[in-house]
Amino acid sequence: MVMSKFECPESGDPLMPSCHLVADTLSDYLEEQLSDADRMLLEEHLRACGLCMVYLDQFRAVYRVAGQVDCSELPDDFEEVMGAVIRRWQADRQADGKE
Ligand SMILES: [Zn+2]
Repeated sequence: MVMSKFECPESGDPLMPSCHLVADTLSDYLEEQLSDADRMLLEEHLRACGLCMVYLDQFRAVYRVAGQVDCSELPDDFEEVMGAVIRRWQADRQADGKE
């Protein structure tokens, strides 16, 4: 049984993951390492969050490529796109005043 990555540390209840938690978990998601409950929560977040959807698409592309070629050969715009996404998340997080 895979432990939930999204449960509240206080109550132990599953929570809708925040964007940066989704980002942390996408590699597990693509490798099908998440529990069913976590996967459903993550997919629910993706449906509601265009930013994470873009990130997932990029991530998927990298995963496809990573299986075939040298890992250093990322798409040309990968860092640029990732940088923009991560900066958005950090700004959102600061604006929210929560983690
Ligand atoms: Zn998101």
